[in-house]
Amino acid sequence: MTTHSHHAHTEERPHRHHYDAEMLSVEDARDRILSYFEPLGSVDVPLLDSLGLTLDEDLVADFDIPPLANSAMDGYAVRSEDVAPASRYNPVLLPVNGHIAAGEVPAEPVSQGTAARIMTGAPVPEGADAVVPFEDTDEESRRLNGNAISEIGIKLSAEPGENIRPAGEDIRAGETVVTKGTELTPGVIGVAASLGKSSVNAIRRPIIAIVSTGDELVDPGDERTPGKIYNSNAFSIAAMAEKYGAIANIIGIARDTIESLEAMLEEAVNYDMVVTSAGVSKGDYDVVKDVLAKKGEIALWSVRMRPAKPLAFGALNAPDGRKVPHLGLPGNPVSAMVAFEQFGRPAIGIMLGKKPLPKPSITAILDDPVHNHDGRRVYARVDVYRDNDGNYRARSTGNQSSGALHSMAYASGLAICPDDVDAVPAGSEIKVEMLDWPDDDLLGDPHSE
Ligand code: AMP
Ligand code: MG
Repeated sequence: MTTHSHHAHTEERPHRHHYDAEMLSVEDARDRILSYFEPLGSVDVPLLDSLGLTLDEDLVADFDIPPLANSAMDGYAVRSEDVAPASRYNPVLLPVNGHIAAGEVPAEPVSQGTAARIMTGAPVPEGADAVVPFEDTDEESRRLNGNAISEIGIKLSAEPGENIRPAGEDIRAGETVVTKGTELTPGVIGVAASLGKSSVNAIRRPIIAIVSTGDELVDPGDERTPGKIYNSNAFSIAAMAEKYGAIANIIGIARDTIESLEAMLEEAVNYDMVVTSAGVSKGDYDVVKDVLAKKGEIALWSVRMRPAKPLAFGALNAPDGRKVPHLGLPGNPVSAMVAFEQFGRPAIGIMLGKKPLPKPSITAILDDPVHNHDGRRVYARVDVYRDNDGNYRARSTGNQSSGALHSMAYASGLAICPDDVDAVPAGSEIKVEMLDWPDDDLLGDPHSE
């Protein structure tokens, strides 16, 4: 990547290699990180709490669904041979020998030359092999005449089986309905409920410790004295972790001292994963490295991406012998979020038993150019909308500095300029990784209002 020119408007001085480590591609960094993760164990989870988790058992039916043959219509259960000659002008008259509501069991069979009134979902009585819906009988005119319905005129013939849902039509007893490893979507949760399960065996949610580092930080809600800034990273990262299915625990702020960071990590090491922010840029890194090297392994990487070039990754030794993966995010608020998207999200996915699939992405037309100053892959904050012709378009959400968190608040996607491309000009197509995917009809043109 030595052929890139440095544009006059670069935010940073011309790029130099600050670290011994060679720059890693995003994919290489991700592969190295993900090799430290595996699916967590499974637990019994109440059905409604299982949404989005991975099923860790096969769901097998103990019984047929539906359990009994039942009516697909409100109407009359008949024997098809009895109504074979029926027509509008020559209805077949049958005595009505029973009423079956949903949830009831038919009291008696339908014998030859009789009918039973039946509601949708009610079990079809023995003897009957078809249901004739109300509208193909003379029930309504009998009602209008004020007659009790002791007999019914059937105005249409029926095939055997007509309007009857056979037992086991949906699911057969003994059948494996949903296999281990499937994501618990609303549909799967519905199936589990229909099998009578109030809980399922599912891979548990990872619990993630979130530690901020920096002498300048105060927590939201506390008084901010001169020189201090609020700790936003802990909250944006915790929110992302929870969005992707983890349970986030904000442990606190470690000061830029060895003792303070050690104390925080002592607590953090009890979790499934530790995420720290800041302290990975050149001036700070030595403190982090010294502490972590004592407690496990740590490496600082330069990743060929903008924002979020510096990244630390390692594993901490827990007292119980586990190796707890540690993701050390950069401190700049946008860098921390973009790095967590690329590396934290798939790590959570693996712990949840999912395949580490890439973010959903679309191709959009750029409204504002994206520049690449130094051969890193650029993730530009954009708002995706649809123009009046129905095309997806992406416009910059503002200041693209790695500290300008404001432009993250309105970004629905990250537009990607490849590392070997100098610039993607306005008007050309670009790939956008969607952060949030609003319902499509909400993606209206903001300029047309
Ligand atoms: P550092 O990696 O410590 O050099 O931090 C880089 C930048 O990110 C500095 O401007 C920090 O003040 C800022 N920063 C670090 N941690 C946080 C945090 N938790 N919340 C908001 N900004 C932060
Ligand atoms: Mg710092």
